Amino acid sequence: MIRLNQIEKSYHIGNNEFKVLKGINVHIKPGEFVSIMGSSGSGKSTLLNVLGLLDNYDRGEYHLNGLLMKNLSQAQAAQLRNKFLGFVFQSFNLLSFKNAAENVALPLYYQKVSRKDRNKLAHEYLDKVGLLDWEHHLPSELSGGQKQRVAIARALIAKPKVIFADEPTGALDSTTSMEVVQLFKDINKQGITVVLVTHEDDISKMTDRIIRLHDGVIVSETETVKSLTNNL
Ligand code: ADP
Ligand code: MG
Repeated sequence: MIRLNQIEKSYHIGNNEFKVLKGINVHIKPGEFVSIMGSSGSGKSTLLNVLGLLDNYDRGEYHLNGLLMKNLSQAQAAQLRNKFLGFVFQSFNLLSFKNAAENVALPLYYQKVSRKDRNKLAHEYLDKVGLLDWEHHLPSELSGGQKQRVAIARALIAKPKVIFADEPTGALDSTTSMEVVQLFKDINKQGITVVLVTHEDDISKMTDRIIRLHDGVIVSETETVKSLTNNL
């Protein structure tokens, strides 16, 4: 599903080049639940953005579903994202002037789905994340955990094959964090591949495999006990 071969990426500031990804090799199978860990600045978000076609890379090869993702135009990348990928961020990224249902329905608006069908599906997906009673509330009226559930419903509504989550529990208390990770586990059980960036051990332990990044290099890949018991 996802295959990275010797991926390198640098940022350029003035005449200086900062290498952020230094030859990353990753293989993620369909249906896996993988976490990416590493200290701040180790390149986690950069890697996730490359995987999610939100950013380009300089060297190496990235195959998604067997297709080489290289030199994509903005429009091609957007089309692939809309079709295959969902995103969840630490800061929720909800539109503050739209209610929960409207936020969830937004990806369908860009896909030119009719208003009636958008509303019906938004209702259905808010139900899936346990927020039916909150559909007409604005983000400012929701707790952090509820906001993240809205963002997850929005990521799911276009039926992605992969969900990328960048520190989705970074702004949540520990109980709410566990509930949100449980939701990702449920989503994963339904067959969606999940790639989750976190720096919390409790959270990464709930995934099948932990990829650790240090200074732009993968330093370890560990199958968790959870994945072993899954395969018994
Ligand atoms: P992490 O998510 O692990 O904290 P990032 O991928 O965000 O790490 O950043 C890795 C390194 O790249 C950091 O040193 C950061 O300052 C730098 N960096 C990230 N984004 C940019 C950018 N757009 N321009 C320049 N440098 C960047
Ligand atoms: Mg980051």
